[in-house]
Parts: sequence; C-alpha cells; structure tokens
Amino acid sequence: MENTIVLATPGRITSTALTLPSRIDYAEWEHILRGFRNVSQSIMFWLGDLLVYGRDEYGEQFSQAIDTVGYSPETVRNAMWVASRVAGDVRSDKLSWSHHQLVAHFEQPDQQKWLATAEKNEWTVAELRAAIRPPEVEPLPKDPKGDYAKLLKDAKGKDCVKCGGPDAMAAHYSGMHSNRLGKAMGKKAHDLATAYLCHRCHTEMDSYAEGNDAERSAEFLMLVMLTNIKRLEDGVLVVS
Ligand SMILES: [Zn+2]
Repeated sequence: MENTIVLATPGRITSTALTLPSRIDYAEWEHILRGFRNVSQSIMFWLGDLLVYGRDEYGEQFSQAIDTVGYSPETVRNAMWVASRVAGDVRSDKLSWSHHQLVAHFEQPDQQKWLATAEKNEWTVAELRAAIRPPEVEPLPKDPKGDYAKLLKDAKGKDCVKCGGPDAMAAHYSGMHSNRLGKAMGKKAHDLATAYLCHRCHTEMDSYAEGNDAERSAEFLMLVMLTNIKRLEDGVLVVS
C-alpha cells in the first residue's frame, strides 16, 4: 500500500530547529506532527533505496561518499540489505523498518506472508522475531571427550577448499541459522560445521557485505560440505 508522505511544512527547518510562523491552525499543526512521525519511520527505507541507487549508478564515487558522509558501516549495510531484499510493493506502512529487516532473508512469498501476519496481529518487532525463530533444537553433543578435536587439528597443512591456497585452518560456520548448529554467544558452531579455509577466505566468509547474507551462508555451507567430503576421503571421518 502506498502512503503519500508530505514533508512540506510552513516555516523553516534547519538541522537543529523548526521555526513556525505564528498562528498556523490546529489541523495544519497536526498534519506536520503526523508527517514527522512518518519521516522517522521511513528514513531507513529511504536511505536504503538511496544507497542502492547510488551503488548501481556511481560505483567508485559511491564508495567515497559512504566513507565521507559518516553513516556507520552497519547502518549502510542494513539499510541496503533491506532495500535490496524487500521490494517496494511488498513493504507495509503499518509496520516498522525493523519488521522488514526481520523478514528480509526470506524469499518474497514468505516476506509477504510474515508481514501480512504481523500486520493482522499487530505484532511488535519482538513478537515477529519470536514467531519467525525456529523451535529450539536439542543442544548438540559438544565434544564430550575431545573426540572431535581431531577434526580441527587435522586442518593443519591442508589447502583452502575455497581458493586452493595453503595453510588452511578449520573455520566454524557463522552464517544464517548457525544457532541451529550449536552457535551461541561466545560459543562456536559444532566442530563438524567447519571448513578448511585460508586466513583470507576465513575473514571473507566471516564478514558481511551488503546484501550477501543468504548467498554467503549458502557458500559457507557448501565449503563445509566439501571439507567433510575431503575428511572422508582422507580417513579423518570414517563410515563404519
Ligand atoms: Zn582461501
């Protein structure tokens, strides 16, 4: 649903003040009040659309602008991620930008489903998050006797499964839904969810760039799978 937002106010707006002319009527005052509310709800959507446009149009100049304008890298990344994932006609003006952020990693039909449900039930961001979160899974057995340590130690001297470079180490999966593989605050995913990666590829797979969450996760899991196939071939993992 398209909501027209009118920013025009009488008087003068500067970065630190709104100066209104004397004697504007109540209706106009209320209109401005609603407009401000809309602006604060909309700014991350606008910023995201503006940034995606800039990236597509200006390339190098875009990167320089990002460095000089002073938005935090996280703000830029999040705004672009949501703007590029959630199409304009899917967005709901009844919900906040944070609601949209929560559904951004879904494909469009699921985005629509979750946003419609949130709108219908008037869910807060926390309620939507709780509804989306998969049911708690049993904690995975976490190397009770140190049996899995060999999986990590064995990476020594292996080549990177991503670039083929030398000096790989076993890098724990850190992408989407890694909590289901045992990852928690200060706790890594299961040792079997590791990939032989060189330092450079490890850093790359552990870092987000704008809008790459789903893609990066899929690639990381592919690298984990390739690593486990290699472990089977090398006899580190044995099928009995
Ligand atoms: Zn590598």
